Amino acid sequence: MSLGEFELIKRFFAPLTEASSDASVVLGVGDDCAILNVPDQHQLVLSIDTLVEGTHFLPDTPAEHLASRLFGAAMSDLAAMGATPAWLTLGLTLPESDINWLQSFSTKLGQLCREYQINLIGGDTTKGPLALTAQVHGFVPTGKALRRTGAQVDDLICVSGYLGDSRGGLEGLLNGFPDQSAAEYLHKRFYAPSPQIELGQSLLNKASSAIDISDGLLSDLAHILNSSGNLGARLQLEAIPLSPQLVQSFGEEKARQWALTGGEDFELCFTLPPQALAQLAQLPAPVAVIGKVTEDTDLQLFLRGELCEISGSGYDHFRNSGQVSE
Ligand code: ADP
Ligand code: MG
Repeated sequence: MSLGEFELIKRFFAPLTEASSDASVVLGVGDDCAILNVPDQHQLVLSIDTLVEGTHFLPDTPAEHLASRLFGAAMSDLAAMGATPAWLTLGLTLPESDINWLQSFSTKLGQLCREYQINLIGGDTTKGPLALTAQVHGFVPTGKALRRTGAQVDDLICVSGYLGDSRGGLEGLLNGFPDQSAAEYLHKRFYAPSPQIELGQSLLNKASSAIDISDGLLSDLAHILNSSGNLGARLQLEAIPLSPQLVQSFGEEKARQWALTGGEDFELCFTLPPQALAQLAQLPAPVAVIGKVTEDTDLQLFLRGELCEISGSGYDHFRNSGQVSE
């Protein structure tokens, strides 16, 4: 790289390692490998995400937005397992060493690392078409990680936050925001998802299964149902939380459609044994019960008591096969 790979790493990324303040990091950025300690009685969980220009984001997307989008998507996987964030590694493929780009990307990433208490401990930097990879590592008490596989018949199906906002934010970016007062909120929900780390941790020993909503509620819930032994579900569509900004901008019908199939909200969908209902109020984030798990394999959608179908890719697939999948 023209700035020099080593200069670039030293200037923008090495300062993000805070080895001294983190007992799990023996050695961070700077050697051939990082050296790390996993705490006793814990397991390491890890996940990797890549964003490629032109495939996952539009050319000329501001660097700080790429940092928050990459970080949010990767961390959301830790949230879905109930993990405590520990370490981040970063793979950067850059067409050039643009100082302004690197400054705003690394500043945003540094802010987020401090906010979520995750430590950048290494990476790789290469020249080529813009692509960004984040690998996140976290800890869970041994044997306790939340998985997709544990849902049981009659469990409550719950989601966190508002769904559909991210798709609304994308729509606004592509075709303009019909309501300027909601533009900032929706734009932020698209570019700067808030991974539900605290909620995930609080669901350990409570939830029977969990997933983060990256593909869309119907598709992600189907992963839980399929992995839990081909179960089905009944959902009450009016119970799915929609933000006032989304409804105001695009109308209730579109908002609901995007909440079901839009994806990239990076909220959590989880199942809870019915006797745990009372514990919902104590969770650290707003959560809604949107349905329950059933023994038959259908996914049935009800709107105000009426069985319904909504057009759109998720639904068509569901109607044809009796099952929702990707
Ligand atoms: P090597 O060639 O031995 O793989 P590198 O020159 O790629 O080593 O990296 C030197 C050090 O800088 C390593 O500790 C590596 O983890 C770190 N590093 C490289 N790129 C990044 C990056 N984008 N973010 C954080 N650390 C990085
Ligand atoms: Mg290298």
